[in-house]
Amino acid sequence: MTTDGYRPIILLLGPPGAGKGTQARFLHDKLAVPHIASGDLLRAHRRRGTALGNAAQAYMDRGELVPDQLVVDMVMDRLERADTVRGAFLDGFPRTLSQAQVADQLLAARRSVVRVALYLEVPTEVLVERIAGRWLCPSCQATYPSHSSAPPGNGRCVACGDQLYQRADDRPEVVQNRIDVYLRETLPVIEHYARRDLLVRVDGNRSIEAVRTTLCSNLGGVVRGLRHNHWHVYFSDQFRADDGRSDWRGRTLCGRHVDSRSSRERGSEDDFRAHPCRRCQLELRARQGPIPDAPVLPTAQPQHT
Ligand code: AMP
Repeated sequence: MTTDGYRPIILLLGPPGAGKGTQARFLHDKLAVPHIASGDLLRAHRRRGTALGNAAQAYMDRGELVPDQLVVDMVMDRLERADTVRGAFLDGFPRTLSQAQVADQLLAARRSVVRVALYLEVPTEVLVERIAGRWLCPSCQATYPSHSSAPPGNGRCVACGDQLYQRADDRPEVVQNRIDVYLRETLPVIEHYARRDLLVRVDGNRSIEAVRTTLCSNLGGVVRGLRHNHWHVYFSDQFRADDGRSDWRGRTLCGRHVDSRSSRERGSEDDFRAHPCRRCQLELRARQGPIPDAPVLPTAQPQHT
């Protein structure tokens, strides 16, 4: 099947605490396509007390997965919104093989296709530690680490000033279950995308900046500057690494348009690390702001089965 002209979908996969939310804010900023996190959508339903929110509550509190049909309907409904016309990236979805198979079919019917599945890998003991010290902003979903039981700083979000909170399902006894469920249910999803040659494994147990660099180079690449002997990282317009493509174009983090016609030399992450463009590097180091379009409820309520 040729998928040219299909709406590109990027998947962000990984266990709870792998840093998906943190990286999602960066990708959202740079790619200007919506970040759709199934967990955030479900929490928004719960806050509003919708039928879906009420149905999901008990599963979420136990760290279990919400039934496939409810989640698939919810995410597909979100993809009907006009802001997804250039594509979207999905965070925390699909979580089961059945969700992945149904999603593949429903996406194809909407002339959309998964271009790449980015899988953030982090050892389990690091996940448990990260989640135990995680505080969140209810308004913009920013996350903050704390090394004590108290919230970090003055307990308020640096970006929007809201009071930070800890998720009920981040309690240690629930976290272990969420990780177990993840390993049982979601690893087949990883294999599913690996078989389709769409999976990119990313070591998530590194600094935020290092993970961002790897994500960029897998959603575009590294090119040498024309005037200076340094390297830029760029996002491809295809939302996929341009490896092997003779025609490619994209935009560097420092804001330059680059394409195959300017016969730029392509490089690796190591090249970038050795001689980085300072402005690209600043972008990779920048503290991430809030996601402006925090989850909005879908227009129609999914049917419960
Ligand atoms: P998250 O914010 O991604 O950690 O998700 C929080 C909770 O929402 C999970 O523990 C599940 O109960 C539920 N959830 C989120 N995404 C899905 C999904 N794709 N399938 C089923 N349940 C989900």
